[in-house]
Amino acid sequence: MENGDQFTQFSDAKYECLLFDLDDTLYPLNSGLSKEVSKNIQEFMIEKLGIEEKVPELCISLYKIYGTTLAGLRAIGYDFDYDDFHSFAHGRLPYDRLKPDPVLRNLLHSLPIRKLLFTNGDMAHATRALQRLGLEDCFEGILCFETLNPNKETVVDEAAGSVVFDIDQFMSSLNSDIDLPKTPIICKPFEEAYKQVFEIANINPQKTLFFDDSVRNLQAGKSVGLHTVLIGSSQQTNGVDHAFESIHNIREGLPELWDAIGKLENVSYSEKVAIETSVRA
Ligand SMILES: [Mg+2]
Repeated sequence: MENGDQFTQFSDAKYECLLFDLDDTLYPLNSGLSKEVSKNIQEFMIEKLGIEEKVPELCISLYKIYGTTLAGLRAIGYDFDYDDFHSFAHGRLPYDRLKPDPVLRNLLHSLPIRKLLFTNGDMAHATRALQRLGLEDCFEGILCFETLNPNKETVVDEAAGSVVFDIDQFMSSLNSDIDLPKTPIICKPFEEAYKQVFEIANINPQKTLFFDDSVRNLQAGKSVGLHTVLIGSSQQTNGVDHAFESIHNIREGLPELWDAIGKLENVSYSEKVAIETSVRA
């Protein structure tokens, strides 16, 4: 009987999983790391890809259309090694700007719910950032660039030849009937990325809370069933269920996440009673 009751208690939990973005979510935007990433990506485009003009503008257009600059660069015809890109963009970051965050560490450890990281960044960056923040043992797993894009070999589209698609011209012509080239990269905020993550990590989106600093990532998450929390602003927006200035606000903003502790204590108590009862019997 007790076992049946326990199962009901668990399945009634509102949330079974917490899914966290990394950059500008688990540490604040004012660390300046994201700005450094943008700078590094622009340097990669100039030094490695030989792009000479309107590099910052191109970055913004590609990010808007394709989710990440990397995904956009691949779409418009540039071929490069993903590891090269990531070591250029992330490998040279001033990680010493990230400080251990024992408050967040305690918050995460005290949450009796499964926790996973979901980032568009690469594994080396995620691991290094988590280590710097002192959060490396807070998550069951890391879902990152390599998880969704395991095939390292880049395949150049033969039809595209060596001609790079002119995204600038595309953006400036409102009634363009030209088809945008597709990217082989799977990343937030596109539905496919969320669906793959749900399958790989066995996540039920209806019972998952998703934390991210990007409204568009959250809106996309909402459309595939996730409950959403904006971090970095307390301003409520369409597609956002909760909004906090900082990840540190989750204790007062989402106290129900800790409710499961009471349930777990009840369960272990009833388990104990059941065992003791059976021994006595
Ligand atoms: Mg982010």
